[in-house]
Amino acid sequence: LKLESEEKVAKVVVVANQKGGVGKTTTAVNLAACLAVMEKKILLADCDPQGNATSGVGWDKASRKQNLFSAYFEPVCFQDAVHATSFPYLSLLPATSDLVGVELELVGREGREFYLREGIKQIGDAFDYVIIDCPPSLGLLTVNALCAAQYLIVPMQCEFFALEGMAQLMRTYKLIRQRLNPNLSMLGIILTMHDARSNLTKDVENEVKSHFPGKVFDTTIPRNVRLSEAPSHGLPVINYDIKSKGSQAYLKLAEECISRLGRAGAA
Ligand code: ADP
Ligand code: MG
Repeated sequence: LKLESEEKVAKVVVVANQKGGVGKTTTAVNLAACLAVMEKKILLADCDPQGNATSGVGWDKASRKQNLFSAYFEPVCFQDAVHATSFPYLSLLPATSDLVGVELELVGREGREFYLREGIKQIGDAFDYVIIDCPPSLGLLTVNALCAAQYLIVPMQCEFFALEGMAQLMRTYKLIRQRLNPNLSMLGIILTMHDARSNLTKDVENEVKSHFPGKVFDTTIPRNVRLSEAPSHGLPVINYDIKSKGSQAYLKLAEECISRLGRAGAA
């Protein structure tokens, strides 16, 4: 007989920000790939109907195989929706465009916030980490992701309106913690498309750090053309150009996540 605390359960990390184009998918895919290179067993779960994380690891979105949508509604084991990728240690729970329908289907159902959490529970012991990519909204798919996770990573682009978006996201985060998932905590804010020479970047960075002391990752992700090229080849950046600044930055972020998660686990 095993005590619950002894059971091996995956750490579930959600990458969320209701703003589009801030680097959620780039972060989810590349963090997942870097952790996999470190021989952690990873499940990349794509909650965005656009399926950019899905194609980003080389999976054909037109495939009729079991995906996250079918896992919500068809009487299959959640396991059947998990697919191997061509990268060692990295598995995928793919998204297809019919995932849009989930938002409408779930409205009015009891426990609608917890479908993903229930699914991940079925497979949790097969992985060290589950990394969830979210759509650019705070709808039911994102809420499902926030309810399934213990840790939140917020990618943020250092631009003028970034903090306004953060305020909205933090209100949602607090509501989720109060009403639906008290186990969720903020792992960190990752500054993306970072330009150390820009004054605006520096101003926004300082402001974010004073608003969220201790929450901004030491690692920043620079603007790097390799990061934007890699998805069109269906490759994470470390499999596309390991020497690039983008690869080095995401490897560093993976290390910083492991160290932050270690501290969080000890607390
Ligand atoms: P989101 O998922 O938040 O909508 P993406 O990760 O898809 O954002 O990023 C938006 C666009 O910016 C994509 O075309 C992506 O390739 C590009 N991009 C993301 N991060 C970087 C970066 N650090 N350097 C260069 N391009 C980036
Ligand atoms: Mg995205």
